[in-house]
Amino acid sequence: MMWKDLPTPCYVADEKKLKENLRVLQKLEKDTGCHVLLAQKAFSMFSLYPMIGTFISGTTASGLYEARLGREEMGKENHVFAPAYKEADMKELVKICDHIVFNSFRQYEKYKELCKQSAQIREDGKPVSVGIRVNPECSTQEGHEIYDPCGPGSRLGVTKAEFREDLLEGVEGLHFHTLCEQDADDLVTTFRAFEAKFGKYLKKMKWLNLGGGHHITRPGYQLKQLKQLIAYIRATYQVEVYLEPGEAIALNAGYLVTEVQDIVKNGMEILILDASAACHMPDVLEMPYRPPLRGGYEPGEKTYTYRLSSMTCLAGDVIGDYSFEHPVAIGDRLVFEDMAIYSMVKNNTFNGMPLPGIALLKEDGTVEMIKTFGYEDFKERLS
Ligand SMILES: *Cc1c(COP(=O)(O)O)cnc(C)c1O
Repeated sequence: MMWKDLPTPCYVADEKKLKENLRVLQKLEKDTGCHVLLAQKAFSMFSLYPMIGTFISGTTASGLYEARLGREEMGKENHVFAPAYKEADMKELVKICDHIVFNSFRQYEKYKELCKQSAQIREDGKPVSVGIRVNPECSTQEGHEIYDPCGPGSRLGVTKAEFREDLLEGVEGLHFHTLCEQDADDLVTTFRAFEAKFGKYLKKMKWLNLGGGHHITRPGYQLKQLKQLIAYIRATYQVEVYLEPGEAIALNAGYLVTEVQDIVKNGMEILILDASAACHMPDVLEMPYRPPLRGGYEPGEKTYTYRLSSMTCLAGDVIGDYSFEHPVAIGDRLVFEDMAIYSMVKNNTFNGMPLPGIALLKEDGTVEMIKTFGYEDFKERLS
């Protein structure tokens, strides 16, 4: 299939760009001896997991379903962190995960025996490796409070005040996740805060997981500083180092293709698209941000400015205002960029909107339609 034949709306992952990102991460593993895991919550396009698994060490999950997906579709190292685990889920997780990270000592106590005995029921005959997520209480991000696990009252990670040295028996690793789209200098700042509070426990551990939020594949990322930090941690504490980026894996490696359905006027020209911010790119409203658009400029920068909106009935379902060099016509296709991450994993059928198809732009320039969705997918999850 060719690009112009794609049904709309449609997510298109870009294989070439994805591999460019993965090569950077693969080299990071090779140069530093660290392990890189795909945080599936950002990008769960599992048809690509076998390919992704040829570059990096494995997957990480936010709960049972993602853990199962990682295990079934990539089948490499499989980790999980969740603020709490249900008992039925934990019984499965100890079979399919290599690392399980707990968010409290109470949760660890609850499942300690199950983890200990897991060797008997696991294929590899080794017990699951247990970690505790800690909260370094060091905020390095501003403006995005919902993405700051170090913010006031955060439930994510054990604070120093709540840390239980007396309950560490059987714990092999520590985990922190505090960043969002950040550079290595903020990671260094966070690590220093972590080290001051928890460094003495790290000496007894086998591994440290630095979480996600590392914008490693963004041009200009401070890769050298990251490598230096990993080298320092490995040399000083003799631990394995894990990173679990989501965004960095598929950053700028996907698109959302949409078609202009109508143009209405209310003080300005407004495009009605078959893609929706609320349904197909919820981070646009949640973050909020203005997604890059191919051939689109800041409003007023070029001659023709439009507001881009959708077919839902939500007044606020507006993607943003963009200007173009040429007038836009009904039937034109627009391409939103950087739409691989936090898009298809978060979409929904609000207003009965169809879910976008999922396609792959291959390295040879052809496009493969991998999956399409229809009325049944809308109906199936309702009753
Ligand atoms: C969200 C999350 C990640 C991935 O974060 P990105 O910003 O997509 O890199 C990794 N680990 C944990 C625990 C997370 O919550």
